[in-house]
Amino acid sequence: MKDLMSKEKFTLISGPCSLESENQIDKQFENNCWKYLRAGIYKLRSSPHTFQGLREEGIELIKNLKKKYNFSLVTEVVSEASLEALLPVIDCIQIGTRNMYNYELLKLISKTDKHIILKRAFSATIFEWIEAAKYIKDYEDRVILCERGIRSFEASMRNTLDLNAVAFIKKNTGFSIIVDPSHASGNRYLVPDLAKASLAVGADGLLIESHYNPDESFSDAKQAISINDLENLKDELDTLSPYFNKEFVY
Ligand code: PEP
Ligand code: MN
Repeated sequence: MKDLMSKEKFTLISGPCSLESENQIDKQFENNCWKYLRAGIYKLRSSPHTFQGLREEGIELIKNLKKKYNFSLVTEVVSEASLEALLPVIDCIQIGTRNMYNYELLKLISKTDKHIILKRAFSATIFEWIEAAKYIKDYEDRVILCERGIRSFEASMRNTLDLNAVAFIKKNTGFSIIVDPSHASGNRYLVPDLAKASLAVGADGLLIESHYNPDESFSDAKQAISINDLENLKDELDTLSPYFNKEFVY
């Protein structure tokens, strides 16, 4: 996951909110397989009545997909059991907004040798977020912070993207930081503009939800962008990145 930690690179991680089927990833990679695939296998959903992820079945699926395609997997660890189950297939551990404060889980994942994307809890201050990152051994070399929107008084979108935090962290700390414009806005039509703003403000990369048939996504359908939109965004980021002294990696 060296690209994700590099100050000279702007790295795009993309994929579905949830892993759904082999066919889904075949369609996703139909024209082009990319380097960093995000796909939730264990899902932490606000409602227990919604899709909770393929879980153990998803791990078997990823094993097969890794034989077919050359990608690194970014996926969320939600518990000790999920960590153990995911270890054979996971390349970068994602800690979700709901678990940023789960210090015992942070201590557990600290024992692995994986890179960790630490999402900001939706009500965490920057100070709390950075302190949480310090639960990870060798955090300077392993933790990538991820700004994914915070709760504010604004109710017209899912969250409020705090680009201040990105600029602040780049100016005042040595952490790498990426932005998730999908969960920040909750709306696919806003994602490309927020992605470009993230590059301009100094972020080191993006985590974006995409799907071959966005409206049919098992989770977070409204914010998933199509593969075509992802390709267009990729072209724009490739053109823009050098203006911000970054090399675009995809
Ligand atoms: C996700 O990335 O699908 C996710 C659940 O994100 P968050 O923890 O930021 O809500
Ligand atoms: Mn999601």
